[in-house]
Amino acid sequence: MKFSAPRGTKDILPEEAARWQWLEAQFREQCRLYGFQEIRTPLFEETELFARSTGEETEIVTKQMYTFTDRGGRSLTLRPEGTPGVVRAYLQSGMADKGGVQRLFYFGPFFRYERPQAGRFRQFHQAGVEVFGTDGPQMDAEVIALLLDFLKSLGIEGAVLKINSTGCKVCREAYREALRKALAPVLDQLCEWCQERYKGNTLRILDEKRPSCRALFGDLPSILDYLDEGCKEHFAGLRAQLDLLKIPYEIDPKIVRGLDYYTRTVFEVSQPGIGAQDALGGGGRYDNMVEEFGGKPTPAVGWAAGVDRILGALFDQKKNKDVEEFLLQIRRHHAYSLSPKVFIVNIGLEARRYILPLLNALHNAQISAIDDPLGRSPKTQMKEAAQRNCRWAVIIGENESRQGIVKLHDMESGSESDINRDNLAQELRKRLAEEKKATTE
Ligand code: AMP
Repeated sequence: MKFSAPRGTKDILPEEAARWQWLEAQFREQCRLYGFQEIRTPLFEETELFARSTGEETEIVTKQMYTFTDRGGRSLTLRPEGTPGVVRAYLQSGMADKGGVQRLFYFGPFFRYERPQAGRFRQFHQAGVEVFGTDGPQMDAEVIALLLDFLKSLGIEGAVLKINSTGCKVCREAYREALRKALAPVLDQLCEWCQERYKGNTLRILDEKRPSCRALFGDLPSILDYLDEGCKEHFAGLRAQLDLLKIPYEIDPKIVRGLDYYTRTVFEVSQPGIGAQDALGGGGRYDNMVEEFGGKPTPAVGWAAGVDRILGALFDQKKNKDVEEFLLQIRRHHAYSLSPKVFIVNIGLEARRYILPLLNALHNAQISAIDDPLGRSPKTQMKEAAQRNCRWAVIIGENESRQGIVKLHDMESGSESDINRDNLAQELRKRLAEEKKATTE
């Protein structure tokens, strides 16, 4: 083999793709219920877009972007996250000028040059939402509820919600000063990364995971003690809304998230026990980004969830229990089924003349069907029909061809009957309707 998929990327093969389709369908259904509409933005944007919003000093911008110069000399970057592109499109399309509240969702691949490990890839996929035009904490609670409902619809159990407030520019500046004061005595013992953060976006130091640094931190002040009245009220409002919805949560003042643009609410949903990378999704409010991109001041809130990781968690969780049954449930749903209903077993050259018209008639009658283009032995073809879990084998040999019939073989009961070739699709539709009726009765 000369080639393999680039490091940190993977192929999603048919068996797994069925799970992806199922997850995407659950996501779309929850978004529909909540009244969100889809937006699809380009996979690459001007580099400047991410530098200006995600943050010049963030790990994403300094180390993880796939940036290239195109033939026209422009610096472009494969999108490392969804929000900046959606904000750009919201402004560029004139959606922003309409006023009111816009509820958007997206689903697709994202790219970060990270050190690949379990649950961390260089091309990964996110399902995300963004809401523009409302600053009240009710929408924060609503998008959190949407995230949790989405996870619940997939059967994810035991996800933990953590919330925090990062305040506004004013309270964050006061907190930054307090943090710097508390860290100053140990500054020269901290690692290079922490020292850099100390100089710039000091709050990000709270993201530090190294135990050696964490031990030196001691009791750091909490941002929640530095919120001004407006931010305090907003955070209390969010908690009240979550209480009303009976959504359990933990308050974690250490959550700042790796992006620069958050204001007030930030949150994360994790799945303890799935390994070091246990964050399934997270998000928060970003009330300044639209204005910073040249729009009118417009509050906004959103989240992104990691699809690769959610599927990993789900199948990890189910592994020891009922994974087979669960997969079967997905597969049984005809939209994700890998099994065509009909396998056409053809014997001899004469029969092959009728295959394509037969397939065509079945497809037009909404019945999935394939044949064996290799014309192998009848036994091999029947074996394949069984392996593929087909509901019927339709056998057509020399005799059948001459008589204008086919042999309809029921793969479940083994019974066989002759059917007029022109009536096959109609007959199978009838049988499918009867089966459907029998299962719903
Ligand atoms: P973020 O955009 O960093 O807030 O990430 C949101 C979610 O996307 C995380 O909680 C993860 O589930 C997922 N995610 C982020 N980066 C990666 C990655 N490199 N590989 C897989 N999933 C990721």
